[in-house]
Amino acid sequence: MFDLDNTLADTAHRQRFLESRPRDWDAFFAAAPQDPPIPEGVALATASAEECEVVYLTGRPERCRRDTLDWLAAQGLPEGRLHMRRNDDRRPARRTKLETLRRLARDRDVRVLVDDDELVCDDAERAGFTVVRARWTAPSGTLRQAQEGEGRT
Ligand SMILES: [Mg+2]
Repeated sequence: MFDLDNTLADTAHRQRFLESRPRDWDAFFAAAPQDPPIPEGVALATASAEECEVVYLTGRPERCRRDTLDWLAAQGLPEGRLHMRRNDDRRPARRTKLETLRRLARDRDVRVLVDDDELVCDDAERAGFTVVRARWTAPSGTLRQAQEGEGRT
């Protein structure tokens, strides 16, 4: 199970939209198709697809689905179900993602969660899931704060 932002997709070029006040979430998500892929994440997802089903679990809202599917295909990433946040869901990622993880784990064996968000990883580990912490991009304080406080991504 792979997170997208800062696990597979490098969001650094659109962070600036969250540094303005008020934060410009529409611009932040609209720029996502230009995200460069992160080689370490892409390699891990590609290798995982040899052994198991790959599923994507992102805090991006449903309205980004088309763009996100196009981006995944353009990077040559494995096909897989894409779990997104409901458009009106403003809960922190660690809540929404854990909910989805637990739901999927009811009838599937979740081998590993790959995510850059330490809070998501901590909670997933506490819930008994195996986690790989994606530490291949510089942590973004702005994005983390926004994820935690505003539940947008
Ligand atoms: Mg992330």
